[in-house]
Amino acid sequence: MIPARAKVNLTLEVLGRRPDGYHEISTVFQSLSLQDKIWLRLLPEREIRLQCDHPALPTDGRNLAYRAAELMMAEGYVGDRGVEVVIEKRIPVAAGLAGGSSDAAAVLVGLNALLGLGLPAARLRELGALLGSDVPFCITGGTALGTGRGERLRFLPDLSAETFDVVLATPPFEVSTRDVYSRWRPRCSAGACGMMVSAIERRRWAALPSLLHNDLQEIVRERHPVIGHLIEAALEGGAQGALMSGSGPTVFALVPAGDRRRTKEVTRQMGRYADLLWVCRPEGFVDPGTFMQGRD
Ligand code: ATP
Repeated sequence: MIPARAKVNLTLEVLGRRPDGYHEISTVFQSLSLQDKIWLRLLPEREIRLQCDHPALPTDGRNLAYRAAELMMAEGYVGDRGVEVVIEKRIPVAAGLAGGSSDAAAVLVGLNALLGLGLPAARLRELGALLGSDVPFCITGGTALGTGRGERLRFLPDLSAETFDVVLATPPFEVSTRDVYSRWRPRCSAGACGMMVSAIERRRWAALPSLLHNDLQEIVRERHPVIGHLIEAALEGGAQGALMSGSGPTVFALVPAGDRRRTKEVTRQMGRYADLLWVCRPEGFVDPGTFMQGRD
């Protein structure tokens, strides 16, 4: 089994529109313990079979995990064989948690191990960038500054699991990343990522909640006031900080690790506005070589 971990963006700044239609961003990614589970098997015939327990997700070339298997085959890594992918979906879909990107990264990492290819993380990230902007980060996860479309990465010290618990609340609607970015308008950026990177590098964990920032939050909140309600509810419940992740609509709240009473109260308050709630932890960098060792 290969874990496909969710991420949140501790900061997200949109810096401008690019000629290729994408946006130039700066973001600090953080992996979480919430994960999908991916199983892979080689097939004797050159084909891809994908099964997923989420009824709304496609099981053909529209699924990012399918495309990852297809890419490995097109690059000649799988020979004349095929690939079976089984996905146990836990990460909410189209929720700003990079569920699809993480599944795709897990297929790249998993096939690398299953086929004994020994590709370095840098090559897997290069392949991942062909599938989506968040896929390169998801190859190893951890804590990283992402620039460009989010695919140029600078890894930062891991947030220790003792820093925060993370409460995730996903309201019952999906948000289209493309639509949110299309409503973005240029404005002066406050340098939120620089401040977050500096705090993480100095391991000033207590400063993190006050440095959370997302340029897309207001755009989504305008149409979906529940985003604002979730943030207020989290703070009322005793969270140290709360923010929408990525292009939303998931809101995450930081609570001191191990403070069960406070976590329960934050969850209760956020639960007034969302049915789907998770309590999880930040998780660190995992080298793809770890899975090579476990392949037998
Ligand atoms: P990001 O944070 O990277 O923008 P997201 O969490 O907002 O991603 P996803 O859950 O990756 O969004 O889903 C975005 C779209 O991708 C959905 O419309 C979904 O149908 C499609 N998709 C394709 N493959 C997958 C997959 N394996 N898991 C989830 N969504 C997938």
